Amino acid sequence: MEAMAGIQAIKEMMSQKTPVEVIEGDGDNTVISRIENELGVRIKKKLDRNHCVKNVTKHLYDLKNSKAAKISNQVIQHFTKCIKYIFAKNQGDPDGMRENLEALVPHQFGDHTKCVPRFCGYKRRPAQTYLHRSLPYKTSLSDPVLKEKLDKIFEPVIAKATLYSDLGSSQACEHANRAVSLRAPKHLHYGESQSLDFRVKATAACMNEGRKYLPEVDKFDVILRCLLSFVQFPVVSFDHFLQLIFEN
Ligand SMILES: [Zn+2]
Repeated sequence: MEAMAGIQAIKEMMSQKTPVEVIEGDGDNTVISRIENELGVRIKKKLDRNHCVKNVTKHLYDLKNSKAAKISNQVIQHFTKCIKYIFAKNQGDPDGMRENLEALVPHQFGDHTKCVPRFCGYKRRPAQTYLHRSLPYKTSLSDPVLKEKLDKIFEPVIAKATLYSDLGSSQACEHANRAVSLRAPKHLHYGESQSLDFRVKATAACMNEGRKYLPEVDKFDVILRCLLSFVQFPVVSFDHFLQLIFEN
């Protein structure tokens, strides 16, 4: 469904001579490969920042649920915050992104050899006792089993450092999905009803025109009704017809 909509959108934009060079989305490559196969164009794909953070966080919660190592919600939330920070601070800097990601796990375990002052308080103030303010008991993590598991989770993340240094955002698209689903909720099956068209178009009008789309629709409706009455009852003079429209 998503792939079909993507291809349709690209087709329409190409027919209007709008250049499309980059698509922003989640980690799914179906759309890109179908666009290449069916339309014969190569388009660069940017990963969506929120999906990337969510993917890593999901692995951390999977680790917690598997009980293979002890990791609390507080530690997971701290890692999530750190990943968001790393992604935000290293856009356009693949080397900085790799450096920061490689230092992330050792830093939480008190090993600052890979850290740099840019992101590590210990390196910035070596004379002071460093406290991990967001970790339990404000001290570094120590479980070797947890470190091994975390290293495994972050290995593929570090390998994609270059990709992560040029992230996009599909928030606008997610917002559009949400806005449509408010007018046409999936569980009510508007798919076979003609009202689906109106519901989707009303969403598009609302997003393009803002809330004023409702009075605009109303104005159009009045003009249409005046026109119909003029055609059905031609006794109304043309001047009266124009007066009716402008009064409304
Ligand atoms: Zn450090």
